[in-house]
Amino acid sequence: MKKMITAHVISIGDEILFGQTLDTNSHFLAVEFAKISIELIQISAVQDKKKRIRNEILSSPADIIITTGGLGPTRDDKTKYVLSQITGKALELNDQALKWTQDYFENTVKRPMNKLNRNQALVPIGTIPLHNKMGTAPGLWTEFGKKILICLPGVPHEMKFLMKNEILPRLIERFDPIFIFHEFVQTYNIAESELAEILTQFEKNLPDHLSLAYLPHGKRIRLRITGHGDDSQRLKNEIQEQIEILISLIPAMNFLSRGTLSLTELTATALKEKNLEIATAESFTAGKIAEELTTESGSSVYFKAGIVAYSPEMKEKLLQVPQSLIQEKGVASAEVALAMAHGARNICHSDIGISSTGVAGPNPDSFGTPPGVAFIAIVSDEKEKVYSFHFPELERIPFTKKCTDLAIQKLYDFLR
Ligand code: ATP
Repeated sequence: MKKMITAHVISIGDEILFGQTLDTNSHFLAVEFAKISIELIQISAVQDKKKRIRNEILSSPADIIITTGGLGPTRDDKTKYVLSQITGKALELNDQALKWTQDYFENTVKRPMNKLNRNQALVPIGTIPLHNKMGTAPGLWTEFGKKILICLPGVPHEMKFLMKNEILPRLIERFDPIFIFHEFVQTYNIAESELAEILTQFEKNLPDHLSLAYLPHGKRIRLRITGHGDDSQRLKNEIQEQIEILISLIPAMNFLSRGTLSLTELTATALKEKNLEIATAESFTAGKIAEELTTESGSSVYFKAGIVAYSPEMKEKLLQVPQSLIQEKGVASAEVALAMAHGARNICHSDIGISSTGVAGPNPDSFGTPPGVAFIAIVSDEKEKVYSFHFPELERIPFTKKCTDLAIQKLYDFLR
């Protein structure tokens, strides 16, 4: 049996430890290592200090140590000095790395290189520079003892480029690893137990190297097929075949999508496919539904306008909600939600209007409606729907987030 190869990711940078940068590099690397079955045994973040970086590398139990960050010209090249100390090899100007940096400045940056940039081509003797076509700092690959030490820039797109184009091919060639792939199918509005009953035989028939997992998320369940094998293309084909069988077994009304698209992405697709335009009329969500609906590129095709009418008088002025209705029913009411949605639709001449009105708290509103009450209305030419919710336990921010998510979910239902 093949020995499991282990890896350790070290993110270098004070800004990660200050909480100013979210360490997404480690997450990306974890996903990539998992694909080729290299066991990631540790992720750590260290300060931008030579001693800390060196200690972390030298005490690592992994076969492959990969660092990100601390390679740029502004950072005094700390990582490279550490590399030089660890390998006992001096830094020298590497002709190949210098040419890459010069070419990058000439073709992409289009200004002359300064001395600091030139220093980026300093590489410890014996260390292999890796061509970073996305930036100026080359990646570095070195070996000491029985370990491989890889240093990558911190900028995410540079790090990803080097991992995909320079590191993974080398690791695959060196270790001949087994491959692990995942494919997803999403279901909607079906209980996990009901689904499990439908899929019992399918799961039993799966070959040993493939497995099925259920990942519920609200009304959605992600079904994941995971497979492992040493022939990457064959494995991908086998998983695809099983995905087709899986889809054929899911009741059509409960099939949501292949892959892992979010409800927002699916809603955007549905609006585009049905050639529908939408306008929003928001009170307590204050534009969050509009924001959500415009996260996709090409949203101008279906998104007409978003009106935030926070105060009762603005609901009347901007959305034509009768003042008498507000007085009679209260501003957070099903009737006002419907009137707001119709108002948005009429004023913006859109096919669909969607609205929110509620009390985010912590105090009741001036009509005495308690915090946590919300109404979402969706209207079109043919139908109108209004939904009421009550989440007294949620504070302002989680409450508006939850109601925004629900608005998108209900809109998706409305369009289906
Ligand atoms: P530079 O040439 O920009 O100095 P560098 O290799 O020295 O590159 P850093 O200075 O450590 O990298 O980071 C550059 C930027 O990349 C950071 O400001 C941050 O936005 C992003 N970054 C760094 N590390 C990470 C990380 N682990 N996850 C996500 N983003 C990161």
